Amino acid sequence: MKSTIKRVPKVREVLVLGTPVLREKAKKVSRIDDNIKDLVEDMLATMRARNGIGLAAQQVGATVAVCVIDTTRDNGDTGVDAPGIEMPLIMINPEITETTGTAQGEEGCLSIPEIYVTVSRAVEVTAVFQNLGGKQLSIRAKGLLARAVQHELDHLNGVLLVDRMSAIKRISLSGKLKKLKKTAAERLAANSAE
Ligand code: ZN
Repeated sequence: MKSTIKRVPKVREVLVLGTPVLREKAKKVSRIDDNIKDLVEDMLATMRARNGIGLAAQQVGATVAVCVIDTTRDNGDTGVDAPGIEMPLIMINPEITETTGTAQGEEGCLSIPEIYVTVSRAVEVTAVFQNLGGKQLSIRAKGLLARAVQHELDHLNGVLLVDRMSAIKRISLSGKLKKLKKTAAERLAANSAE
């Protein structure tokens, strides 16, 4: 018999730059089972606790193609051009199928705290994905949401904000980035000693 006691979502640790799992490519989700549902609940709780507008599975140590996005807190306009799509957006096996235009914009990342980078992204994207019920959906996103979708899909491919910044910016931030990587290495060592 299945327990009817509701699991309490857990705020998980957000892994920082230098943690190897952030560089791994996500595996496609073939079955949306309880593990995936628990992961999504935890990711939503973690994103909210950290005031993020998006989070990818790798950031909490899972290498599956799952990301969550909620741009409503930042911007009244959700940037969604698709009826029936609500925030938070839970995207399983997302793929961008079409992009339009490019624009520069500033981005931050929970895995690279206190660093903001100007990144060139498509202005509008069409993405296909599955929801938690396994239903195949499509959205046309613009503005901040389009940027968030591209940022989170980068994570699922093991690509980070630092890969998208200019050489000059990288040099100017090298001290801060080194410090972050050192923190990641210390955390990994502490966890493996437990
Ligand atoms: Zn990020």
